[in-house]
Amino acid sequence: MSRLNGMLLSEVEIMDIQVERVTKKEAKPKPDQNSLGFGRYFSDHMLVMRYTEDQGWHDAKIQPYRNFSLDPAAMVLHYGQAIFEGMKAYRAKDGGIYLFRPADNIERMNCSAARLCMPQLPVDEVVAALKELLRLDQAWIPSVKGATLYIRPTMIATEAALGVRSAKEYLFFVILSPVGAYYPEGFNPVKIYVTDKYVRAVPGGVGNIKTAGNYAASIMAAVEAQQAGFTQVLWLDAVERRYIEEVGTMNIFFVIGEELITPPLSGSILPGITRDSVIQLAKEWGLAVVERRISIDEVLAAQENGALKEIFGTGTAAVISPVGSLHYKGRDFLINNGKTGDLSQKFFDEIMDIQYGDKVASCAWAIRL
Ligand SMILES: *Cc1c(COP(=O)(O)O)cnc(C)c1O
Repeated sequence: MSRLNGMLLSEVEIMDIQVERVTKKEAKPKPDQNSLGFGRYFSDHMLVMRYTEDQGWHDAKIQPYRNFSLDPAAMVLHYGQAIFEGMKAYRAKDGGIYLFRPADNIERMNCSAARLCMPQLPVDEVVAALKELLRLDQAWIPSVKGATLYIRPTMIATEAALGVRSAKEYLFFVILSPVGAYYPEGFNPVKIYVTDKYVRAVPGGVGNIKTAGNYAASIMAAVEAQQAGFTQVLWLDAVERRYIEEVGTMNIFFVIGEELITPPLSGSILPGITRDSVIQLAKEWGLAVVERRISIDEVLAAQENGALKEIFGTGTAAVISPVGSLHYKGRDFLINNGKTGDLSQKFFDEIMDIQYGDKVASCAWAIRL
């Protein structure tokens, strides 16, 4: 077994997680479930685990949520070796708890780690430790429909050293944040600004992994779009500025004629788990689903000749986000009269039902705790 792949410890040792519980006094009051917003509250406990070249992953611990101490020379602060994931725990009607394809998130994190020369995580052990953390903090999983407990696994380089290279020490942690329903008053189609001024990712770059720098680099385009009255940015490819890549931090789908079209995983697009779920469901439903390059000109031509029926984004936070209009080169294009399309609604309902354990997916996507 290679040291670099981070699996020096046996399963038994990893699973032997120390648990330090909060004292009654340290336990935080739970926020009002009806005004959670996104990412504003954090649960009582967190999972932490350290990596060194000598020991591999070690010191797996569930401990009270608290500050870290980091050396000012910690390499993440200078050279940006930081990766993360986003997933959710769902409270079923009967009180049970579900996760949606959790191993896929940890496997994707390993792809991110590989690209940035960070150590591999032991997938099964991390999922088991995450379940342990969720059992301890289960009272933080909201029961209001649509509200969830957002899960944020993160890995950063902690070695104190200057000089650009791969670090020798890392910290992995998982924090939990109760979040409100994305659509408290039902589906709300968004207004999208198509930018040809900024790009998100380049071929050969890091657009296909969840690394912190990608999001830092996207903020300016988002700010300019918001100042102009739009909700999100639609990104075009970096080379020709013609082909569609993603919308905000979501993958994107088009219903044109009888086809469901989404850009292929070309290397500069994030391989979304919701994207993959939509593709698989579409195939099960007998829809014609195509992964191919699609240009903004083709989309707008289809809008003008009436063939474009729906556009929607996909991601863990919103599940499905219908697009109501596109703004490109000073012109506005209304999509499906600014209304939520039937297919967008159908995917939303189906995936939500699976995530909340109301319906069983054919590929056992939802895992009951
Ligand atoms: C996380 C993310 C997505 C969506 O991925 P899911 O696994 O569906 O949540 C899409 N695009 C970007 C840029 C992302 O960061």
